[in-house]
Amino acid sequence: MSYQIAIDGPAGAGKSTVAKAVAKKLGYIYVDTGAMYRAMALYLLRSGTDAANAEEISRRSSEADITIAYENGAQQVILNGENVSALLRTEAVGNMASVSSANADVRQKLVELQRALAARENVVMDGRDIGTCVLPNANVKVYLTASAACRAKRRYDELEAKGEHCVLSEIEADIRERDERDMTRKISPLRQAEDAVLVDSSDMTVEEVVEKIVSLAECERQRGKGTDRG
Ligand code: C5P
Repeated sequence: MSYQIAIDGPAGAGKSTVAKAVAKKLGYIYVDTGAMYRAMALYLLRSGTDAANAEEISRRSSEADITIAYENGAQQVILNGENVSALLRTEAVGNMASVSSANADVRQKLVELQRALAARENVVMDGRDIGTCVLPNANVKVYLTASAACRAKRRYDELEAKGEHCVLSEIEADIRERDERDMTRKISPLRQAEDAVLVDSSDMTVEEVVEKIVSLAECERQRGKGTDRG
């Protein structure tokens, strides 16, 4: 049976950096579910879909064939035959993903893909609803968060390092808005699963968070909880 580590949390908590490093350490595959929602959002943006029209989002989403491949261990997202991985990390795509991910048809399609991946491989999967919905029986569940100010500052530093000038207060406002949308949507809102371990990374280094999660997996293995997972 595959081994599953679920990491959920708000935007900018460092989930992908940490999940990638944990996967590498354990020799598991890293599944970035946000990238799948972003690929769907890219399709919707390209097709001129109105973000406010749920019916149009449902209809258009059925035209998007999204699959995952791995190149040198890195996840690649294929949208209707095109590798779109390099096009997903823009603010426009992120904002559309945050809106369209509230759509039931979009979620159903992508959750199926996520469960199929986790059924055949040992995974570290990150997102918003992995512990609560996608993999309710995951061996280890982590809710990774940090203060909004801290998440905004990290995002600001990341953009500045890329030479993109931005305003810190605007980034923080954007993050708060995205949190609000992800936490209050009707389907699979972002929340900590009852059996998830809360990790606040505000005052932790990436290495400390990675060590914490690896040690949670080691403890879980020792307890042998994995044997009775459904
Ligand atoms: O994590 P990332 O910022 O790439 O995710 C983009 C958007 O996709 C999030 O704001 C969230 O609305 C949505 N998402 C989701 N469920 C997931 C992963 C991402 O709803 N499992």
